[in-house]
Amino acid sequence: MIIFGFRGKVFQLAMVTFVCGNCSNQAAQALRKVVTKFTLFFIPLFPVSTKYLTQCTFCGVENRLTKDQADQVLAMGALQQAPREN
Ligand SMILES: [Zn+2]
Repeated sequence: MIIFGFRGKVFQLAMVTFVCGNCSNQAAQALRKVVTKFTLFFIPLFPVSTKYLTQCTFCGVENRLTKDQADQVLAMGALQQAPREN
């Protein structure tokens, strides 16, 4: 008997502040990556899908992103967190 399945793992990549498309508030958005892996006998073997999404901390809405969009959000977050030099 072979036991197989799928297991999802969520990685929080960054918190980025921008205006939410749903509630129109300037709010922190959590950028997350969801990796689904194929498992055999409960051992994760290889990823079958990778999804990116943001979740608004104000209204809770989730938006699916492409990899490119996720990279842009990450870059924006890096800028926001960079120390300001005067
Ligand atoms: Zn929102």
